[in-house]
Amino acid sequence: MPNEVEPLDPIRIKPNEKRRVAYFYDSDVGNYAYGTGHPMKPHRIRMAHSLIMNYGLYKHMEIYRAKPATKQEMCQFHTDEYVDFLSRVTPENADLFAKEQVKFNVGDDCPVFDGLFEFCGISGGGSMEGAARLNREKCDIAINWAGGLHHAKKSEASGFCYLNDIVLGIIELLRYHPRVLYVDIDVHHGDGVEEAFYSTDRVMTCSFHKYGEFFPGTGELRDIGVGKGKHYAVNFPFRDGIDDDNYKSIFEPVITAIMEWYQPTAVVLQCGGDSLSGDRLGCFNLSMHGHANCVKFVKSFGLPTLVVGGGGYTMRNVSRTWTYETGILNNKIVGPEIPYNDYYEYYGPDYRLEVRPSNMQNANSREYLNKILTQVLQNLSRTKFAPSVQMQDVPRDAEDVGDVEEDTAEAKDTRGGSQQRRDENVEATGEFYDDEDATGGKNVMEVDYSQV
Ligand SMILES: [Zn+2]
Repeated sequence: MPNEVEPLDPIRIKPNEKRRVAYFYDSDVGNYAYGTGHPMKPHRIRMAHSLIMNYGLYKHMEIYRAKPATKQEMCQFHTDEYVDFLSRVTPENADLFAKEQVKFNVGDDCPVFDGLFEFCGISGGGSMEGAARLNREKCDIAINWAGGLHHAKKSEASGFCYLNDIVLGIIELLRYHPRVLYVDIDVHHGDGVEEAFYSTDRVMTCSFHKYGEFFPGTGELRDIGVGKGKHYAVNFPFRDGIDDDNYKSIFEPVITAIMEWYQPTAVVLQCGGDSLSGDRLGCFNLSMHGHANCVKFVKSFGLPTLVVGGGGYTMRNVSRTWTYETGILNNKIVGPEIPYNDYYEYYGPDYRLEVRPSNMQNANSREYLNKILTQVLQNLSRTKFAPSVQMQDVPRDAEDVGDVEEDTAEAKDTRGGSQQRRDENVEATGEFYDDEDATGGKNVMEVDYSQV
């Protein structure tokens, strides 16, 4: 039973877990600025990169500068008119696009800034190329700290995000992978990614976030997907102040259950740094080690994994944590001293790598967490007939039916559960694998986006 809270184990590295890591970085990324006073600062990616290099992690991974995502690539998810707008609007001509700015939610939170479109191209290019390298088995782990912009919608900017690099990366993975798991540890709900794949069982989205009077306002426990995607969206709503041990006591059983029931063949992990203690916008109390434990845990399943950034508004802590996590992904523990680097002065007065928790109150009671965990695990057990995985015909348990008290749509929607429906999926997914000759030798699974 999930009643016990186990203390966080010290993170240990097993040498035989070494995997090939591709790291994507574009040295232009730190030059883009949302505007004075705006909390989102791409500079933090450059700070992380400088730390990563000065810890010597470049010796252990392959470093790439991705080709920026093209308009055509962006339109695999976003609408043509939205991408066209992003490519044309500048601070100088913004007045001419007044109507479009309202329509596409560009303005206050998501301002028009110099180089906006290039910034989107860098973020998207890293996640797409990372996914492509994973697909071709050129690496086991791909890292793009400039990605993770999970709020962007098909035709709308949101929450400092314009281009949803994660959705683009997942679409790329779906060309080869029958089932992709998306895990989001940003303090905010991963709404843009969830929405994009809400009605498909080929992507399971799992977001752990603050819920209740907090941006973006979505991500309730009862939001579990619709149609074929029912039970393939997982939301864990936290209250303020969740700490390392309690986070781990939820994260590990939920991810374990997903791995067992859903059996993903690839993973995308969004590592938003605003779930760290002391974040300018966040309200959680995770230390660097508590945050990195999620990375270590997901890595331990040994699946092809795309790791992306996300939120994070106390820059020195974001760069610390993403550096430490880059180490974990390379099977290296870095720290505790900060090595000399281009941004050394940011890390005073102690010049240590650690991000410590504060004494803030944890508003998540054990009773609350256990109640939600029980419900999430119960929902997950309904995905037992994972698409394209051959399963025996097991009758559904009586208690499996109709006991999601908050889910009023349960009675209306019966499409997700029937064995016949699942069998159809098993057959259908085979069709996605073209043979080499038919696809110019690339062995590519063509994804019709309207189907996913
Ligand atoms: Zn966030």
